[in-house]
Amino acid sequence: MTNFALIMAAGRGSRLPADLPKQYLPLAGKPVLRHTVDAFLDHPEVDGVAVVISPDDAMLAEAALGDLPDVTRIAGGDSRQESVLNGLHALQGDAPDKVLIHDAARPFVTAEVISGVITALQDHDAALPCVSVTDTLKRGKDGMVADTVDRASLFHAQTPQGFRFSTILPAHQAAIGENHTDDIAIAEQAGIQAVITDGHPDNFKITTAPDLLRARQMVNVIHPSAEPASRTAVGQGFDVHRFAPDRPLILCGVTIPHEQGLAGHSDADVAMHALTDALLGTIGAGDIGQHFPPTDDRWRGAPSETFLRHACDLITRAAGRISQLDLTIICERPKIAPHRAAMQSSLATICGIPADRVSLKATTTEKLGFTGRKEGIACMAIATVILPDTDG
Ligand code: MG
Repeated sequence: MTNFALIMAAGRGSRLPADLPKQYLPLAGKPVLRHTVDAFLDHPEVDGVAVVISPDDAMLAEAALGDLPDVTRIAGGDSRQESVLNGLHALQGDAPDKVLIHDAARPFVTAEVISGVITALQDHDAALPCVSVTDTLKRGKDGMVADTVDRASLFHAQTPQGFRFSTILPAHQAAIGENHTDDIAIAEQAGIQAVITDGHPDNFKITTAPDLLRARQMVNVIHPSAEPASRTAVGQGFDVHRFAPDRPLILCGVTIPHEQGLAGHSDADVAMHALTDALLGTIGAGDIGQHFPPTDDRWRGAPSETFLRHACDLITRAAGRISQLDLTIICERPKIAPHRAAMQSSLATICGIPADRVSLKATTTEKLGFTGRKEGIACMAIATVILPDTDG
């Protein structure tokens, strides 16, 4: 018998006042998702873990799971239902007997809750961990209390929701395009009986700001002062490329219509070069030329995205998080403003941060100097990165 955990981390919405999807928020120095994955990896009866991830969050997921090559990554779909089905299909080749479908935003699932679901699946096709409703429940009408609801038969549903793999896959396939809030609802529709198992009050879903505060208080109890000290590192970069005929003009990965491009060994994206140097500066990792020597033929005509991704990767490895990027492009022509949003979006995607954390400005030099004479383009960049304070 094999038991697989399928962790749903593809949701991107957040009711929290944060830029990150909630499953990537840090808790005691680890993303929420990592706490969740570890809970299943540490469980002796769980044979494997797969995580369904939004392709938009690939960098965040790698930062959370990079050192866990045995954890399967699966691309999510457009809805939760589609994401779960993608996960089930990915497991189908070497199908487990039982699958435990769990919300990534429930990092405090206990070993007992997991065991309870696995044990119940010996005699049932589906199992749902639940906690009783403790508050008295009222039905309201027009702002007035209408009556009291008997709470004895009411439960809060939690995850992991457990299923025999051979029953949930066809149920999910039959539910394509439908809107269900959880997998037990899909099972119910398919006539699959689910047994109630013991949930746990700590196994709550981080959804709101008070939930996040509660989660932070809980990890501080479990791991006193585990939240590592951090420090802010600032790096700056500067680059210049001269105009050259018969070259495309590429800035921040965006091709800009202009009568000339920039000369250079790579694609000569002066803005990405300055930004790459700024990012390398935050971790004292030298400059772009050390990592990608212009004498090396491998980088002839290379897209500068390669260089920027490398710098981001080094920051992730250093357990760093990009806080803010700020670029100033200096040229007389072309006009940057019409392309600003596309350029910001391009950099944000590559760096795995929201576009509002990428600031992009442009200026002329009042026709003075080489930029004023339209001989080339210069760019300055500043990167701010949050790093663990290993001295602290
Ligand atoms: Mg350069």
